[in-house]
Amino acid sequence: MQFAKRLDRLPPYLFVDINRRIAALRASGIDIVTFAIGDPDLPTPSHIIERICSEAHVPANHRYPETEGLPELHEAIADWYKRRFDVDLDPSTEVLPLIGSKEGIGHIALCFVEAGRLVLIPDPGYPVYSMSTMIAGGSPYFVPLTEERDFLPDLDEIPESAASKATMMWLNYPNNPTGAGAPLEFFEKAVQFARKHDIFVCHDAPYTEVYFDGKKPPSFLQASGAKDVGVEFHSLSKTYHMTGWRIGMVVGNKDAIRALFTVKSNLDSGIPQAIQLAAVEALRGSQAVVSEHNGILQRRRDRLLKVLAEIGLHARPPDGGFFIWAKVPEGYTSVDLTRELLEQVHVAVTPGIGYGARGENYIRFSITLADDRLEEGIKRLAGWRRGAQ
Ligand SMILES: *Cc1c(COP(=O)(O)O)cnc(C)c1O
Repeated sequence: MQFAKRLDRLPPYLFVDINRRIAALRASGIDIVTFAIGDPDLPTPSHIIERICSEAHVPANHRYPETEGLPELHEAIADWYKRRFDVDLDPSTEVLPLIGSKEGIGHIALCFVEAGRLVLIPDPGYPVYSMSTMIAGGSPYFVPLTEERDFLPDLDEIPESAASKATMMWLNYPNNPTGAGAPLEFFEKAVQFARKHDIFVCHDAPYTEVYFDGKKPPSFLQASGAKDVGVEFHSLSKTYHMTGWRIGMVVGNKDAIRALFTVKSNLDSGIPQAIQLAAVEALRGSQAVVSEHNGILQRRRDRLLKVLAEIGLHARPPDGGFFIWAKVPEGYTSVDLTRELLEQVHVAVTPGIGYGARGENYIRFSITLADDRLEEGIKRLAGWRRGAQ
């Protein structure tokens, strides 16, 4: 076999050792409380499931879907953007449904990236931004997100030499893994930066509906001129607890959407139609699940933040999303602390290094675990003794 060289550029999966240890502890009968999974623990709302079931019986939905998606889904997405963000989208040219947003996030690199080109990528960040850049033959240029700057990149600090070689930039707010939100003024700045350097902006926004303290996050497309320079990826996964159904969307710049469609129409054949129609149901139906879910997550966030403060793990309260990003104490790496919590109190977290070099001094806690498991985890964390075996 002669594997392609591009595979050599992809680093090995970082958490192999830790996952092996979790599996071994579990096999020996030890109960592990895991804060390591970012997937809603609550079920998909029943009105959405009912639509999937009824549409599954319709023979027209058994055939190949169209890659571009059903017109009624395009319209439901455009109407949702109008209602939620007051953003106007042409349903046929400025909206494209995706098989979960991750697929589109990966594939868009094929539209903008080639050898010799850079992509500006937040560090820490969702690993797909850098992996897809490398698969497409380009190189990531990491832009630090630091707590001092509320985890917003300092665009003025990006050197001209990097900006001139970059063709694309990733942003993600509310942010995974830091939990930070971005104000609309930041997106306005990003549009200016993109225009100045001719860089295409991809805003990854699956958490705009997962927010705390009643502060609704803005869309990148609310920034003036955003549609000229970028797109926004969104998803039904986090909003409607639909991670397993695989449906998301990209909206905004029509030329980029056409380019992505050209790539995708040669790789996939779209989203199963029953699921597209369930997405219409989700977007047009009752939105009660959003505030209900946010209330539950906010309570969990506050419970966990309290114990973290008590045990000396400082964390900036997240504005949105599923995660708390906690600083590791002096003398630990993120992997050291992850190991110690696992071995000593049987609590699993994610080491920050998995999200980039600047994640090294942090660990990530997810709050998508059932309340009784959360309480058990909190009890165990309260009993953690620093450095003890
Ligand atoms: C969950 C997540 C996604 C992917 O969501 P899909 O289920 O593929 O729509 C993309 N970006 C970030 C930052 C995420 O956390």
